[in-house]
Amino acid sequence: MTNIAFIGLGNMGGPMAINLVKAGHRVTVFDLVPEALSALEANGGIVADSAQAAVVGAEVVISMLPAGKHVAALYLHDEGLLQLLPKGTLVVDSSTIDVATAQAVGAKAAQAGIDFVDAPVSGGVSGAQAGTLSFIVGGTEGSFKSAKPVLEAMGKNIFHAGEAGAGQIAKMCNNMLLSILMAGTAEALQLGVDNGLDPKVLSDIMVKSSGRNWTLEIYNPVPGVMPNTPASNDYQGGFMVDLMNKDLGLALGAAHAGDSMVPMGEQSAALFAAHGEQGNGRLDFSSIYQHYQKN
Ligand code: NAD
Repeated sequence: MTNIAFIGLGNMGGPMAINLVKAGHRVTVFDLVPEALSALEANGGIVADSAQAAVVGAEVVISMLPAGKHVAALYLHDEGLLQLLPKGTLVVDSSTIDVATAQAVGAKAAQAGIDFVDAPVSGGVSGAQAGTLSFIVGGTEGSFKSAKPVLEAMGKNIFHAGEAGAGQIAKMCNNMLLSILMAGTAEALQLGVDNGLDPKVLSDIMVKSSGRNWTLEIYNPVPGVMPNTPASNDYQGGFMVDLMNKDLGLALGAAHAGDSMVPMGEQSAALFAAHGEQGNGRLDFSSIYQHYQKN
């Protein structure tokens, strides 16, 4: 059993923290939203009234927050956790954030003798619930080895991408590709529908053909085609358009800074930005399908 503090109990962090409890760890939790705390308490978590209180006695601190500014505020700012934690604590930030913030937290942690890994995840809310997430880890070999057993309670594939920040680089590449696949899949399915095909039949064909991809296999964007997808639940839950737009901003920012060519990423970013601006920011990102229906 490890004493773990878990900060950020949203769509992803909530089920991840519950899986740590199920694995027998002592998990002390904090979130700004009272309902998120109650849900964890009902599942065996110990509720703290601040992040600072949650980390008292923790051997491992895990955060799952929306964006880089939240992570910077938690660890780096006045009363940031890196000033409080004893040497030898392991800090795991699983949020998807900009590389610069991940590297800044990593550098300050190293100065304080604290092990740090950035460990963004892939696999969505269903993967978080099932404990089958992929963790894409950046950090030293030693920090990676320390983090692996804890991450295995929440995920199935644990990758070591490189030094601190490398997990975020791999994650932003993956999510840029995911956005392109989702937009392309929605586009192809609506083209079929517009020409008289049943989207379920077309999906069954394409998933066994060369258009096969993750969105067709397990995250179909058309309502009713697959049970238990956000599309079949009014695009509720899942991975919000706002968060995808954040990730696309991270990818395009890195691409422009490094002079990488990302024309498909730029197209996809423009599509998801327009979709978000039309009031869909809190819907799951597969709701990009509605964009094709409306236009
Ligand atoms: P979410 O908005 O559902 O959850 C974030 C939680 O953080 C909220 O409960 C919020 O109250 C809490 N929070 C914010 N600031 C806080 C603070 N200062 N102290 C304590 N709690 C605070 O978001 P999510 O979907 O769980 O995503 C979390 C991260 O995981 C994001 O970086 C996202 O990009 C990434 N991610 C999400 C998915 C997905 O499918 N939802 C998949 C992979 C990665």
